[in-house]
Amino acid sequence: MPHPESWMRVTPAGLYCEPGDFHVDPLRPVPRAVITHGHSDHARPDHGAVLATPETLAIMRARLGEGRAGRSQQALRLGQAATLGGVTVRLEPAGHVLGSAQVVIEWRGSRVVVSGDYKRRRDPTCAGFEPVPCDVFVTEATFALPVFRHPPAEAEAARLLESLRLFPDRAHLVGVYALGKCQRLIALLREAGWDRPIHIHGGLQRLCDLYGELGVPLGELRPVPAPEKRGGGGLLAGEIVLAPSGAEATPWVRRLADPVVCAASGWMRVRQRAKAKGVELPLIVSDHADWDELLATCAEVEAPEVWVTHGRDDALVHALAGRGVRGRALHLVGLGEEDEEPAAPAPAPAPAGEGA
Ligand SMILES: [Zn+2]
Ligand SMILES: [Zn+2]
Repeated sequence: MPHPESWMRVTPAGLYCEPGDFHVDPLRPVPRAVITHGHSDHARPDHGAVLATPETLAIMRARLGEGRAGRSQQALRLGQAATLGGVTVRLEPAGHVLGSAQVVIEWRGSRVVVSGDYKRRRDPTCAGFEPVPCDVFVTEATFALPVFRHPPAEAEAARLLESLRLFPDRAHLVGVYALGKCQRLIALLREAGWDRPIHIHGGLQRLCDLYGELGVPLGELRPVPAPEKRGGGGLLAGEIVLAPSGAEATPWVRRLADPVVCAASGWMRVRQRAKAKGVELPLIVSDHADWDELLATCAEVEAPEVWVTHGRDDALVHALAGRGVRGRALHLVGLGEEDEEPAAPAPAPAPAGEGA
């Protein structure tokens, strides 16, 4: 059985499967790419052939534009397999965002699982993570420090609703990532009984619409109204407003009634970080595995070897060594740029008609 190190290589474009002649989540345009999910650090534009779940392909078309989401696209449903140059590729759910998949790669009796980004908690907006036994498990390590233990997301949604009861005269502005976190938080609020319209910044509209089209109900969503007169404010007291992280620092926010600035991210565990970003109500809601879940997952897949793409690889590799697992840091650059990163990207510019 060939060792995966002899047929899965790290190249400047990212992780490359030599016998199958494809990259997984390549960082630059390549002839053939397998994409785990639609976050921009994984799904980049202008590849030749792209293989991904139908949902990820739809997300790529929506975000990158029809012309830049791969010259040709091959959809593979979760649980289905395809053959690329003698290599079997199967996609299994990663539980991260809608359409997110682990790539199960088999060649000559050896199996590598590239998990992309993943989480183990229930998420009403996507299929749950399936552990797949393998010879090498490729994992991220975004929250690979013992300090990161995520509370139940349902409890964090309840904290937001409690704040709305306490401060009915203030709008509640929650900073979220446009893909995944936004829709998951909406679904959690719906499950908790919040059936009023939820107001969303224009930068979130397209992906929320797409989730609806792909069969994930989000209830009634409304755009954030423009103030009636220039410089007017005081809108949406007692309502929930979602916006891309960073919108709270733009003039757009002045239209809202004395907003309680909230943010939903795994990083909200770090108090200084919440404070530095001016977040009054930090909500610890993450779409990544926490420390315990990373270690539990590495144990469940029974891999003698774990490759760590990015994040706190040192801590994870060290902990794995203590459990008899060989860890290897791949130091893939360019990953972790979109979701759950300390330096969140600037919000998308507001569409025409929405004003500042
Ligand atoms: Zn991601
Ligand atoms: Zn990522």
